[in-house]
Amino acid sequence: MLLTKTVAEEILELKQERKAVLLAHHYQEPEIQELADAVGDSLELARRAKDFDGDVIAFCGVWFMAETAKVLNPQRIVIVPDKAASCSLVENCPVEPIRAYRRAHPDHVIVSYINTSVEVKAESDILCTSRNAVDVVNSIPPDKTVLFLPDRNLGAYVKDKTGRQNLRIWQGTCIVHATFPARRVTEAKQQYPDALIAAHPECPQAVLAMADFVGSTSEIINWCVSHPAREFIVMTESGVRFSLERLAPGKQFHFVANEQCNCSECPYMKLNTLEKLRDALTHLEPRVEIPEALRVRALLPIERMLALR
Ligand code: SF4
Repeated sequence: MLLTKTVAEEILELKQERKAVLLAHHYQEPEIQELADAVGDSLELARRAKDFDGDVIAFCGVWFMAETAKVLNPQRIVIVPDKAASCSLVENCPVEPIRAYRRAHPDHVIVSYINTSVEVKAESDILCTSRNAVDVVNSIPPDKTVLFLPDRNLGAYVKDKTGRQNLRIWQGTCIVHATFPARRVTEAKQQYPDALIAAHPECPQAVLAMADFVGSTSEIINWCVSHPAREFIVMTESGVRFSLERLAPGKQFHFVANEQCNCSECPYMKLNTLEKLRDALTHLEPRVEIPEALRVRALLPIERMLALR
């Protein structure tokens, strides 16, 4: 009898054949996370990509994350399931105005969130993620003016936490987090009065003001898992439910729909599917290619961030 392999089985076979590692962001569909060698947020995956031993990195997240993995791993093939998996923050922040800003203000320090294109990273002095953004800005001499880009809500959060007045903020937003309305968080709290609220700093300030905890995706997961409370309203992309329920069985997690899609899913992240991942491993395409001169310039601000730990 001829047994038909499942797509998941095909992926596992291809992974071995290609000596590939599969990295998945928390916002990926559960069936992708289940197959992954590592699941994490941007910073964890950037570090994991650097430490990994193998020929191919199959990056299930969005394009800028795969670019970061390629910058750190020039000798490895980096593939993605769908090249169209971008990010509204990347789309909001083209490189030309950043180059113009750099020319006009050569003495300012440009701090870029990891959610930027490789071209913007190359124009930056140091990178940050939502987890270390406050530490990164605090590492810059206080007399230096900082341009923080591209997320305006994370920028406002950092400005508040650092108390830094000479912090200019780019006006980009995440289409998922920035469209969570405070009104719906209030309604959720009325519906689940015992639940604590955990929010990602890309959320609007009115939402952050209601939160019991503010942190990156992985910090939110760790906080919910270790906190003695049993019920949480989670203000981030709903893909984290997979890790939350795996790590904290029995606890309850509620997600709030945003006004963009009446859901809490990132449309870019959800472009990735098992079938596309299998095809990418089969053909080793779509592949991230970065000119060497650009890669070297983008590497420096990433390494400055990683050196901070
Ligand atoms: S959730 Fe927001 S920040 Fe994350 S990839 Fe999607 S659009 Fe970009």
